[in-house]
Amino acid sequence: MDIPRIFNITESAHRIHNPFTPEKLATLGAALRMEKGTRVLDLGSGSGEMLCTWARDYGIIGTGIDMSQLFSNQAKLRAEELGVAEQVQFIHGDAAGYVSDDKVGVAACVGATWIGGGVAGTIELLAQSLRAGGIILIGEPHWRQLPPTDDVAKGCLANSISDFLMLPELLASFGRLGYDVVEMVLADQDGWDRYEAAKWLTMRRWLEANPDDELAIEVRAQLTSEPQRYASNTREYLGWGVFALMPR
Ligand code: SAH
Repeated sequence: MDIPRIFNITESAHRIHNPFTPEKLATLGAALRMEKGTRVLDLGSGSGEMLCTWARDYGIIGTGIDMSQLFSNQAKLRAEELGVAEQVQFIHGDAAGYVSDDKVGVAACVGATWIGGGVAGTIELLAQSLRAGGIILIGEPHWRQLPPTDDVAKGCLANSISDFLMLPELLASFGRLGYDVVEMVLADQDGWDRYEAAKWLTMRRWLEANPDDELAIEVRAQLTSEPQRYASNTREYLGWGVFALMPR
């Protein structure tokens, strides 16, 4: 079981697989005012940076589930590196339908809401693991500016403009699902650069090391087109943030 190999190639050097910087992750952790020992569940935990740094900085106890074998292994190594291997566990597997045995104080899905079939389904899934008074975290894109055409939306790797909302509408949609938005931390364009531009050097080095790989042609094509695609679409039009929610 694994995610499509192309992501394991292009994001192999990422610690954070979204437009958050280490500073934004720390800001979010501080904003949540978690007590030491708070249990955190993270569906689609990637390389584990959120759980590992929050274990180090805020004393949380974490469980992460991720479908990438590579990212899951990197998460375990990171936990050892930061000296928090006793506090966090990483499970390699499909997080769809995952409900934790022990209820958690923070239930998160940061940039992987397809796991629950979209934002609403993911909130419903996370709510099943949440203790009373707990907080759900959803990391999700929104439009910074509304794309003028569906072609621009496609240039942001969306199917159409209707895939995402503007920020006020996204916030209102959480309310319609019965949740208060109690905190949010938004990514910025510098963070997008860290997420997207970091893939380019990784791709270039991978191509040099793997010229005959079956994905070499695809990676070559991406490296050629990505900087311009990104700068003219995603960087201008797509926002991203993590939203903290509590049931009303
Ligand atoms: N939350 C992490 C990773 C976000 S990228 C971070 O912010 O760094 C999306 C992640 O979802 C990837 O790590 C990918 O491997 C994982 N993923 C995709 N489908 C999944 C599934 N069905 N179950 C668990 N993880 C999944």
